[in-house]
Amino acid sequence: MLADIYDGKIWKTFPDTSDIPFFTPETADSHLGIMINLDWFQPFESSVYSCGAIYGVICNLPREIRFKKENMLMLGLLPGPSEVKLHKINHYLALIVDELLEFWDGIEIPAAEKNIRLALICCLNDIPAARKLCGHISASVSCHRCYKTANSNGNGNKSNFGGFDDMVDWFVERDLDEHRRNAELWRLCKSEEEIKRHVSSTHVRWSELLRLPYFNPIRYLVIDPMHCLFLGIAHWIIKKLWIDGNKITKQDLEKMEKRAKYIQIPADLGRISNKIATGEGFFRFMADQ
Ligand SMILES: [Zn+2]
Repeated sequence: MLADIYDGKIWKTFPDTSDIPFFTPETADSHLGIMINLDWFQPFESSVYSCGAIYGVICNLPREIRFKKENMLMLGLLPGPSEVKLHKINHYLALIVDELLEFWDGIEIPAAEKNIRLALICCLNDIPAARKLCGHISASVSCHRCYKTANSNGNGNKSNFGGFDDMVDWFVERDLDEHRRNAELWRLCKSEEEIKRHVSSTHVRWSELLRLPYFNPIRYLVIDPMHCLFLGIAHWIIKKLWIDGNKITKQDLEKMEKRAKYIQIPADLGRISNKIATGEGFFRFMADQ
């Protein structure tokens, strides 16, 4: 059961330069792991004008105070009037990465009488921002974690990710070295045309984040819970696609309900409803359940 980032594989195994773990109880207040977010907002009510912000949160802090305004790291403000397109985000990222590199080596903070080291271990954004930050092609073309690509939109249909019969062929984690190699090759492209061809064949653009020697744009880019859970994408997939589409039957729901009773939930996560098989399925389930 994963209750917080500390239960995850990255936190437990993130290596220091000498291959010993970077996050340990002894280094809890000197080796910081940060998660960054990029998003746009409208500062004015009566005109369309998008500003962007890149900010970080310190994962070492307990969840109750991690996201408080006073504990956020404001890393960059992106002026309007419109969202910065694709790889042009790199102009803003470059300055942030320069500082992250210094912090990876360690910076003496006199007030704390400590040498603080910091690693960027997680990017959490909506899908367009996520792709931009980490240099992946649009989510309507392919997955950034595995080799699944969308079916092309012939016959006027929208492109989609249907078709799981050939799963063994694509359900494989993307290769980090291959990603880094293709990103480097992107930098050698000499024209817009060449860039377009490179991105459609490799699905990769250069991102300044790749200058961080430890950064993995495939694993550290996560699916964000806000859009997936709180805005109802997961619920929509289960209800509309699986239940209404008869992929999950009443018997399956009953089996799931039986099994759910045996799940041990950490004390601070509340309780999970046990009415999976009632009504239309997942009766009155809240998004995060
Ligand atoms: Zn995938």
